[in-house]
Amino acid sequence: MPAKISLPDHTSILKDVATPLLRWYHAQETERQLPWREDPSPYHVWLSEIMLQQTRAAAVIPYYENFLHELPTVHDLAHCDDDRLMKLWQGLGYYSRARNLKKAAQVIVTDYGGELPADYKALRALPGIGDYTAGAIASIAFGLPTPAVDGNVLRTVTRLLAWPADVLAASTKRATFELLAPHYPAGHEAGALNQAFMDLGATVCLPHGAPHCARCPLARLCLAHAESCELVFPHKKAKKARRQEKLTVFILHQGNAIALHRRPDTGLLAGLWEFPHTTGHLSQAAARQFLETHGLPIARLQSLPAARHIFSHIEWHMHAYEVWLADDALQIADPPVTLRWVPLAEIHQNYSIPSAFQYFLPHG
Ligand code: SF4
Repeated sequence: MPAKISLPDHTSILKDVATPLLRWYHAQETERQLPWREDPSPYHVWLSEIMLQQTRAAAVIPYYENFLHELPTVHDLAHCDDDRLMKLWQGLGYYSRARNLKKAAQVIVTDYGGELPADYKALRALPGIGDYTAGAIASIAFGLPTPAVDGNVLRTVTRLLAWPADVLAASTKRATFELLAPHYPAGHEAGALNQAFMDLGATVCLPHGAPHCARCPLARLCLAHAESCELVFPHKKAKKARRQEKLTVFILHQGNAIALHRRPDTGLLAGLWEFPHTTGHLSQAAARQFLETHGLPIARLQSLPAARHIFSHIEWHMHAYEVWLADDALQIADPPVTLRWVPLAEIHQNYSIPSAFQYFLPHG
């Protein structure tokens, strides 16, 4: 059963938001020129929204431009080789976004003749497209009157209404969508209103520190501002602590090649190439014994600096060893996982090593 949510009072405020916010946005438009706004085709809007999900706009721009240069159409994306796709995504993280892009592109080619559907529900049904992204594409690319509720919208709306709902709860997102939708214009202004919320959240109704209420086009309507309690909102329930995991990572050299292992197709960093590793922190002696138990004779072994990598829900604490194997190692090796031996230069050129393992990638 969906969680119960207490709706805010004074929701009629929301009917008066669009006009001043759009006026402000159009006056600002030249200040936030972004490449995906210059040619907002459905493919461009979709790609930019997926890239922007976990990454700042300034950091996304070079990736966006390079991606479109390499894969200019939905057909190109649908037929792109997986390793090439991962390479194009390398540095953006959250690789499942790229995999879902390709899966969705294949559905778009098969079911919609290569054109994204101009329908909120059909967009929402595509892999990797959630409520927010469906709303953004529907409004910006197709002019449909659909809100795109992200953190910026939630922060602004909960402040406007002095609404103490937990903004991390799906029920708050849904309620915000329902509250805003009746007040959305259609046509070009639908997308403009979503972009206006994004810009207001990025430059005025800020997530960290005090919002700039003195230059906010909605200050006259805002209950949190009227009561000088802007920083009380948004409310967020405390997140669960991250799971802590210890790993020992091996950079195994054999001649000029290094061992890579492909992760399983599901779960964390699914399908990406990594360095072989085992759970726990092994001492030098234990690391030697571990490798020799798997038939990997060691010529030389040295410790590398430890590293920590933080995912949204897990934290890895990694010890690592760089290991040079004896010349005949590969004939007698019995590694616990299937390894691929790849020359270092080729790793740098063709393999996308996730940032969790980049700490240990030898320089080319
Ligand atoms: S008045 Fe202040 S708190 Fe209210 S929406 Fe504007 S910037 Fe945010």
